[in-house]
Amino acid sequence: MASIQGDMHESMRFLKEAAVALEYDDREFSLLAGLSREVRVAMPLQRDDGSIQTYYGYRVQHHNALGPYKGGLRYHPSVNLNELRWLACLMSLKTALVELPLGGAKGGIDCDPKLLSRRELRSLTRYFVQKLHRNIGPNLDIPAPDVGTDAQVMAWIQDEYSVIYGYTPGVVTGKPTLVGGARGRESATGRGIGIVMQEYAHHRADELLGKTAVIQGFGNVGRHAASDLTDRGVKIIAVSDSSGGIINKAGLDVKRLVKHKDKMGSVLGFDSAEEIDNQALLMLKCNYLVLAALGGAVDETQASRLKAEIVVEGANNPVAYAGDLVLRDRGIVVLPDILASTGGVVVSYFEWVQNIQHMPWSEDDITAGLTVRLTKACDGVFAVATGQNCSLREAAHRIATKRLKDALWITSF
Ligand code: GLU
Repeated sequence: MASIQGDMHESMRFLKEAAVALEYDDREFSLLAGLSREVRVAMPLQRDDGSIQTYYGYRVQHHNALGPYKGGLRYHPSVNLNELRWLACLMSLKTALVELPLGGAKGGIDCDPKLLSRRELRSLTRYFVQKLHRNIGPNLDIPAPDVGTDAQVMAWIQDEYSVIYGYTPGVVTGKPTLVGGARGRESATGRGIGIVMQEYAHHRADELLGKTAVIQGFGNVGRHAASDLTDRGVKIIAVSDSSGGIINKAGLDVKRLVKHKDKMGSVLGFDSAEEIDNQALLMLKCNYLVLAALGGAVDETQASRLKAEIVVEGANNPVAYAGDLVLRDRGIVVLPDILASTGGVVVSYFEWVQNIQHMPWSEDDITAGLTVRLTKACDGVFAVATGQNCSLREAAHRIATKRLKDALWITSF
């Protein structure tokens, strides 16, 4: 088992902190920080204009002591092995925290999907499966959508894999419902954010109704979080995407904004809103700042200046370790990624169960299952944070790390 301690991603310090709190020794920590497998493949792609460009695809599998490896595939120019290592580990912590019988993995391709035609994207995806198929499978490793990938990409993966192994819908989750996808999978991460925020408000004897939220990111996670929070009576005062941000302190009409984004490809240009840059958006005064874009959005500098009461991590790892320490010092509550952004993988799990049992669930069953799992995880995290007088992130990491370590220990020795 390769160790990643040599070039530890800085976020690995969250894991280290949990291991220290749990009084694990170096041997136990290296078991947690170790990775089972890393795959890197080169994919020369003939572009539509006849030129050749080589892309690299990766899959990092952290552990499978609790079940098959599970986690997203991201298509983004920034994809690199070191970050994927931490993200794979983060998936293990997510699945452990919500008690799914799954492990953790992450992968992707270092491409910009916005600059590829549909044909190029399809060829690249199929090529990736041709190179990766021995390392994925319904009982081995089950990819899902992540940054820059969607249900369509999952449908191509399923099809290419099925060419080799016969019809196998359980090889990926987040597929279109017509070919085995779970109802509500696309909105699940966003809805999970709403459920966790609601639970935390209840825990503080508060409510979401009438609160304000700023959302960084209006992709698959951010837009569904915005819709869910609107349904819960939260006023969304500003949102951003990779092109920039918009603000309306009286509240944005989220339904219309979603239509605008689909039509124009960006939130910019939405009527009855003013433009605001991404940094200014992060510093807005609000009850909730929902981070639903890329990792590392809040470092020490931003953390020392932001004015939100509560930060919600809808993306993976949006608050850097150093930023998190500043927020803890400032008494700003963070609803951590391994809790707040777990709705997606919970519904992925339901999809996988449907696929291996060939028995579709209704959307009501899925919503009920999601609510039960997230509520239980929230209760556990809030209890540990109160009992051990630590942040919600520390509590979540301690619970997940202990579960993971116990499973790794039992299966390894
Ligand atoms: N990409 C999502 C995440 O980071 C979902 C992973 C999955 O469903 O397997 O949680």
